[in-house]
Amino acid sequence: MLDNNCIFCKIIKGEIPSAKVYEDEKMLVFKDIQPKAKVHLLAIAKNHFPYLDGMDGEQTELIAYMLKKIPQIAKENGCENGYRLIINQGESAGQTVFHVHIHIMGGEILPW
Ligand code: AMP
Ligand code: ZN
Repeated sequence: MLDNNCIFCKIIKGEIPSAKVYEDEKMLVFKDIQPKAKVHLLAIAKNHFPYLDGMDGEQTELIAYMLKKIPQIAKENGCENGYRLIINQGESAGQTVFHVHIHIMGGEILPW
């Protein structure tokens, strides 16, 4: 299910442009519009759920599916020497888009 008011759902539907690097029937990976690393991608499921907290079984399986796909996608997009995955849960962690997304960051040596 997608949400008409969600910016990432609009990206999935093609209503907002994005720089896609990978897409299949379950997930989409695109470039972050304000990159905080040389390579900064966002992986999202084609299913709207706002938080890591409170996911159901199907949503948890989608996260697992994305985690299985990400190593290859990262390698093909400039992260062959390593990368960092981040999920911000909640506003105090800096979550600003309430459609769960996995940040993929790399392409350089990352300070902790
Ligand atoms: P978070 O702070 O974890 O919710 O991350 C949201 C991320 O989405 C930020 O890094 C934003 O730069 C990014 N973002 C917001 N709007 C867009 C967009 N239209 N296309 C690509 N990235 C976006
Ligand atoms: Zn959404």
